[in-house]
Amino acid sequence: MLVFQNQWLCLPLTHSLFSKLLPRTKHAATVLSPRLCPVWCHSVARATTLPTSPGGAEQVVDSSFDAPKVKLLKQKMELLGINLEKSCLPGKYHNLFCPKCKGGQLKERSLSFHIISDCEFAMWRCFRAQCGWAGQVSADDKELYSGVCTNANLYRQLAEESLGLEPLGPEVVAYFGERLISEKTLSRNAVRQLSNNKTVIAFTYKQNGLLVGCKYRTMEKRFWQGKGADKILYGIDDISQASEIIIVEGEIDKLSLEEAGFQNCVSVPVGAPEKVSSKDLPPIEKDTAFRYLWNCKEYLDKAVRIILATDNDPPGQALAEELARRLGRERCWRVLWPKKDEFSSFKDANEVLKYMGADALKKLVENAEPYANAN
Ligand SMILES: [Zn+2]
Repeated sequence: MLVFQNQWLCLPLTHSLFSKLLPRTKHAATVLSPRLCPVWCHSVARATTLPTSPGGAEQVVDSSFDAPKVKLLKQKMELLGINLEKSCLPGKYHNLFCPKCKGGQLKERSLSFHIISDCEFAMWRCFRAQCGWAGQVSADDKELYSGVCTNANLYRQLAEESLGLEPLGPEVVAYFGERLISEKTLSRNAVRQLSNNKTVIAFTYKQNGLLVGCKYRTMEKRFWQGKGADKILYGIDDISQASEIIIVEGEIDKLSLEEAGFQNCVSVPVGAPEKVSSKDLPPIEKDTAFRYLWNCKEYLDKAVRIILATDNDPPGQALAEELARRLGRERCWRVLWPKKDEFSSFKDANEVLKYMGADALKKLVENAEPYANAN
C-alpha cells in the first residue's frame, strides 16, 4: 500500500475533542446531569491570562524540544493544580500526584502524565478507579479543557462522540467480515464509523487509553487523517509490555494479525515510502517522515525482537528497510509472503488471512527470517 501525504486532509483533533467535553455542549448537557455523573467538571482559562514565571521549564528540558511550548503547557497544568515538579520531559510518561483525589489513602502517584514529543499537547489520566480524572491541554489552543469522571468508559464514549464517531453498523461490519476480521477484534481495537457518513471507517489512535488521533478510510480505500494520527504507531498500547513485536503497514493488517493470535502488533500510520532513501539517516529531530517511530521510541526500545510484516511490493520492502535501519537490523526479522500462483505472491497479512486462513498467517509470522538473511 502506497499512500501519499498530499491525499490526506487535516482535521483539527485536539480542540474539538475536549471542547465537546464541556457541559455546554448538547450531548454533555444531557449526560452530565448531576444525578448521572456528579463529579464532572471543567476548567477554562485564557492563555493570555497565564502568569509568566521566570526560569521554568527550559532548565529541565532537552534543548532539542520546543521549550516555549513546554513552558506554556507547564503553566497551564499548574492552573489545573498539576505540579510538574521536574517532570516535564516531552515524550516520557510521568507518575504524579493527582490534585483531584490526592492519590487516595495510600497517597499513590496515580496520575499518568505525558507531553507528546513535539510538545503540541499534554495529556493525563488518574488511574485510581474512584477518580479517573483525565484531560488534554494543547500548547496552541487559547483555551484548556479537562474532564473529571469516575467512569472511564463514559469518558471514552464522550471523546469519541465529540469526533462524530459511533459504534460500527452492519455495513462496515460486513465489509470487515469479508476480510475475515471479526467483530470481537473490531471492538477490542475500538474501530468506529463516522456517524454522519456510515460508510467511513474510523481507526482510533489511542495512547494510554486516551484518544490521541483518528484516521479515516472509505470503503473505496481513500484515506485521510485527523491531527495526531500521524504522530504515533497504531495500537501502541498493545506493545507496552511486549519484548517481541510485529510492525505492519496498515491498520487492517494489524487487525488481521490479531485474528491469527497476535495482539503484540502495531501499524505504521502513514503507509510506505516509494523507495529507500539513498541518504544517510537524518538526525532524529529532522527525521520527520518517521517521527511516529521516534515518538514511540520508549516502547520500541523494550523490544528484543521486531518482526517486520510490511507489504510484498517495492514500497513495502522500502518501508521494511527504512524501519530496520532505524530500529537496528540485528533485532529485526522479516515475514516472507508466499507465492499465490506461478506469477504472483500474496501482498499482505490480510490477503493471506483471507485466502489461506488464520493458521497459515500465524505460521508465516512464526517462520519469519532474520532480516539480514531475508535480503
Ligand atoms: Zn485522581
